[in-house]
Amino acid sequence: MKTFRNFIGGEWVAPAGGEYFENRNPARWSEVIGRFPDSDARDVERAVRSAQRGFEIWSRTPAPIRGEVIRKAGDLLVARKKEIARAMTREMGKVLTEALGDVQEGIDTAYYAASEGRRLFGRTVPSELRNKWAMTYRRPIGVCGIITPFNFPMAIPTWKIFPALVCGNSVIFKPAEDVPHTATLLVEILLEAGLPPEVIQLVHGRGETAGRAIVEHPAIPVISFTGSTETGAIIGETCGRMHKRLSLEMGGKNAQIVMPDADLELALEGVLWGAFGTTGQRCTATSRLILHRQIHDKFVKMVCDAAEKLKLGDGLKPGTDVGPLINRAAREKVEYYVEVGRKEGAVLEIGGAVPKSAALKDGWFYKPTVFTGVKPGTRIEQEEIFGPVLSVIRVSSLEEAIKVNNGVRYGLSSSIYTRDLASAFKAMEALENGITYINAPTIGAEAHLPFGGVKQTGNGHREGGWQVYDFYTETKAIYADYSGKLQRAQIDTYE
Ligand code: ADP
Repeated sequence: MKTFRNFIGGEWVAPAGGEYFENRNPARWSEVIGRFPDSDARDVERAVRSAQRGFEIWSRTPAPIRGEVIRKAGDLLVARKKEIARAMTREMGKVLTEALGDVQEGIDTAYYAASEGRRLFGRTVPSELRNKWAMTYRRPIGVCGIITPFNFPMAIPTWKIFPALVCGNSVIFKPAEDVPHTATLLVEILLEAGLPPEVIQLVHGRGETAGRAIVEHPAIPVISFTGSTETGAIIGETCGRMHKRLSLEMGGKNAQIVMPDADLELALEGVLWGAFGTTGQRCTATSRLILHRQIHDKFVKMVCDAAEKLKLGDGLKPGTDVGPLINRAAREKVEYYVEVGRKEGAVLEIGGAVPKSAALKDGWFYKPTVFTGVKPGTRIEQEEIFGPVLSVIRVSSLEEAIKVNNGVRYGLSSSIYTRDLASAFKAMEALENGITYINAPTIGAEAHLPFGGVKQTGNGHREGGWQVYDFYTETKAIYADYSGKLQRAQIDTYE
């Protein structure tokens, strides 16, 4: 069995405590991918010292040159796309086509970030005083702690790490325990691309130990986290107390609305992809389907008939539609919520069970599941399940559909299928989400647009696109006075 290492202080090293954890294939749990360091605060301490040295070098490297390193990383991701996607499917379970898309998102992010190295705009504005210039520019901040979840092993780390690096920061990366191999490949690629070694540190390990040590370390002023709302709350408390800059990307309870005038075949493709793609383990997964009563019965039948035909299996096997859940706890959570749904009086239309087939019994598979008759306010309608479970809610109008969509504590993504322009625009304005799709499923964010949610999904920051560059830089205002005399703002001009 292969033993992997942390990358700290410019070299691949064993964890201080000598402890390791196993990374296994969720489609075939008996298959061990490797042993990875179960790091602790001592490893984080070493990583911080190294990242501080890295920051000294990197923050003084011109931004266009920093961008060139990220462009090279993008090129290497292109060259190794298939190999990385296969490694990702093996440890995470998503079907290969989706894993290829995940790597592609890293590539897109790399090229966008590389070009940002030649922008990183500041502003020049007129001063209110004569013979004086006023302008802003961006400064790097320092060591960034990057803590990521299992569901997008390449896309999410690259969304965070590439912009952080282009902005001149150094990085300590703590990937999710379930996907340490893809993380290792990403760090290898950054090093091969020419990133000075001490600019990146890879610290494997558990959230409560390695993750926590990063969040609590006083010399890490920036934390970017994607994961559960519960963990986000713990991290938020610490960062609030320590006055750290924090970007949180957390849960969702995303809905697809289907209006009577929608193209139902299109809406069907959308909901199958949105609800059961990545086995429902996307932050943007469709977990609620809000149907207008006029098409409710017909569309439910279409969804159930099609969802029952989805083929479960190893994501590396051609023809597989839906892979396994990530681990035992994830499947137990789904089983728990299916029981909750039953007790709440929802009607289980299909699924609601672990598949019986012998070929699937060694993996964390669960049948695509559809509940109808789900009432707004019930737990399966309100709480994030993070699995292949779709709750159908029947409504009588667009206004009611919007109300149901907005009646949850999360606000990441939403979708509406309609051919009516007015309905589409009304929904666009009224849906309380960071992302709304019109005639497309709740999933499918593109790397050059801001990504994030409102309410308890996030804390106001956005990833991706141009906005994330604000998060990873401090804006400094410069006033250059060449008048040769004391000029008093707010006073001299108005005397
Ligand atoms: P998920 O349900 O998506 O696995 P988690 O919030 O449990 O979400 O995990 C997301 C990431 O946060 C993982 O890398 C995990 O190790 C890390 N993590 C979990 N708990 C903590 C914590 N208390 N402090 C810092 N990081 C944590």
